[in-house]
Amino acid sequence: MSDVIEVIKQSYKIENILEQFIGIDLSNVRKKNKSYNICCPFHQDNHPSFTVWEETNYWKCWAGCGGGDQINLVAKALNLKNHEAIKLLNNQLNLKKTQVEYMKSGVEELLRDKELIKKFNDRIRETFSNLIALRVKTKKQIQEVMEAEDLESEYVINLHHLVPKLEGWLESLESENYAVQYHTLLDIQNFFKKGLNSWIKTK
Ligand SMILES: [Zn+2]
Repeated sequence: MSDVIEVIKQSYKIENILEQFIGIDLSNVRKKNKSYNICCPFHQDNHPSFTVWEETNYWKCWAGCGGGDQINLVAKALNLKNHEAIKLLNNQLNLKKTQVEYMKSGVEELLRDKELIKKFNDRIRETFSNLIALRVKTKKQIQEVMEAEDLESEYVINLHHLVPKLEGWLESLESENYAVQYHTLLDIQNFFKKGLNSWIKTK
């Protein structure tokens, strides 16, 4: 239990307890000697008799309402026993922790996505430069076979058809649209079933 009390005391500032549980905002109150003097919220008070020390997180009513730490203040404000105030503050802290964890996992999710996006972009770049290489190679082959082979042969016709296909793919890969790029990659993969790299090497 003492660990829980320690955690609560370190997690809550007395000013925040005052604001959250009593509705008193100290930000407009002048500070004197590292303390605030305000009218006591617990008795009819015309002269400020309630002091709050921000460094030690202590409070005291000089007219006899009491004094203490953050836990005592919550207990006094909500008319709770100290152990009930501890339970309330601890539950609130746990809820905050859960929210922080949730936020963290959200960021991790995002980072994972970023990693995916990076991989995808690398893949696009690699495919793009492979297609450029293939286009150079295809044009060279066309030059070579034009002299040696029958211009009506299926091989020559296929080579001729490949160039505009390559041009179209290159253009689509340059698109900033992930969906277009993705479907182009699928299209390319489908065309070069064994993979673009192996096609460049073997043909
Ligand atoms: Zn008082």
